[in-house]
Amino acid sequence: MISKDSEIILEIKNLQARVEDQSILQGVNLTIRSGEIHALMGRNGSGKSTLAKILAGHPSYTVTGGTVLYCGKDLLDLDPEERSRIGLFLGFQYPIEIPGVNNLEFLRVATNARRQGLNKEELDVFEFEEVVREKLKIVQMDSSFLDRSVNEGFSGGEKKRNEILQMALLEPTVSILDETDSGLDIDALRIVSSGVNQLSNPKTATLLITHYQRLLNEIKPDFVHVMSAGRIIKTGDKELALDLEKTGYDWIDKDAQPKGNDL
Ligand code: ADP
Ligand code: MG
Repeated sequence: MISKDSEIILEIKNLQARVEDQSILQGVNLTIRSGEIHALMGRNGSGKSTLAKILAGHPSYTVTGGTVLYCGKDLLDLDPEERSRIGLFLGFQYPIEIPGVNNLEFLRVATNARRQGLNKEELDVFEFEEVVREKLKIVQMDSSFLDRSVNEGFSGGEKKRNEILQMALLEPTVSILDETDSGLDIDALRIVSSGVNQLSNPKTATLLITHYQRLLNEIKPDFVHVMSAGRIIKTGDKELALDLEKTGYDWIDKDAQPKGNDL
């Protein structure tokens, strides 16, 4: 929902990055305002996850050019923990398992770090249990998942729900969800997307990385972008996602053909 007084939350300009010696992002431009939902689509290997990880501050990737402003602040200057504290959330394509770390305690530590960023008081174990119980309803998750190690032995759908639970607790300003729909059955997809919809409001923004139109039936994007070879090469509204569903990405190769040899 875009309101008149929306503000720029994320402003990415000419972002370039590499991993090891391979150049991956080749000049990404993207502006996201409060209240907006952006979908980022594109073939495997086009650089979508790389963009998400760079925004979250993943150490394997080196930014070689460009700027990212988050609410006017230089995001690239901040360490990953600080980015999370000030309201940037990344839901991973492949959520990691952390054996030996209790899920409830993990969520409490993360939530308290974020609360610090919001100038709110820390929650003790008992206060946190109450808060988390409310949030469990959003993702229709059983409280038994809190007693287990983070994501250990969780099914694909359970991991993704745990990510959305984390998002519900952290109350991020901008959420980047990397293929939250992959590996989900229809019920899990509905639960995850209704969670995302319940959590978005005119003050927050969402960047949804997805391959499938079906997620965009549940979460309506204001903008759809197509990424190819490390750049956003096309931007449209939700109709663009419908077109892609029909035509695939072959037009990208055609557009990339050298012109002028049509004798
Ligand atoms: P997408 O999410 O669009 O499928 P990725 O961002 O995961 O694409 O990958 C973009 C390109 O960067 C791919 O060619 C991939 O192999 C490469 N890449 C990404 N991360 C790494 C890494 N850690 N090491 C080496 N290559 C990587
Ligand atoms: Mg990816």
